[in-house]
Amino acid sequence: MSWSAEQTMQFLFSLRSHGVTDPRVLTAMEKIDRGRFVQGVFADRAYEDCPLPIICGQTISQPSIVGLMTQALEVSPRDKVMELGTGSGYQAAILSQLARRVYTVERYKRLQTQAQALFDDLGLTNIITFLADGSHGLPDHAPFDRILVTAAAEDPPGPLLAQLRIGGIMVLPVGQSDAVQTLIRVRRTETGYEYEELCPVRFVPLVEGLGRE
Ligand code: SAH
Repeated sequence: MSWSAEQTMQFLFSLRSHGVTDPRVLTAMEKIDRGRFVQGVFADRAYEDCPLPIICGQTISQPSIVGLMTQALEVSPRDKVMELGTGSGYQAAILSQLARRVYTVERYKRLQTQAQALFDDLGLTNIITFLADGSHGLPDHAPFDRILVTAAAEDPPGPLLAQLRIGGIMVLPVGQSDAVQTLIRVRRTETGYEYEELCPVRFVPLVEGLGRE
């Protein structure tokens, strides 16, 4: 079953009222049914603007935050994008509508497998999933035009900065895992990196190594 026209309309209205105004981002979020990425008892809350629990003790991010992060990333159709933290796969699915190719990395096997099955089912063939510690990036596939991190680190991981193409953009939450974090945007220039603070956010922590599940 897919979402109703009324659910879609309310979902888009809520996104707009939280500052998601880029028409390409809104169109992508209209195409991808968040209900497919949420299971069990939380499924009927899929269209509310809140984060929800998923397996492995992780969370699917709040839709307005997904929208704001995607908007801040300024993705264009030729971009090669890396996402750290596949989780449910929802954010990667949105990015797949805007980018040429999405490389998404997850440290839990169960999450990677579940997301890969969903991408296959939805025909999202431009997403490649990886089981790895994403804090090292994906050196074999670098450089990336865009990098989106959906787990919070205290500082931007060095390997990710190094794997960003000159002219590229990275959006990520930084700060302590048990406190409110700040969403920042990093632009790589010819001579270095420019940092910009966007808004307060709350994400699960970036954890090193592979997960047990
Ligand atoms: N983007 C996701 C939100 C996922 S929550 C979505 O749309 O649903 C953050 C995810 O990052 C979790 O699944 C967590 O397991 C993963 N994660 C945390 N540290 C990681 C690391 N070092 N490497 C890869 N994935 C990591």
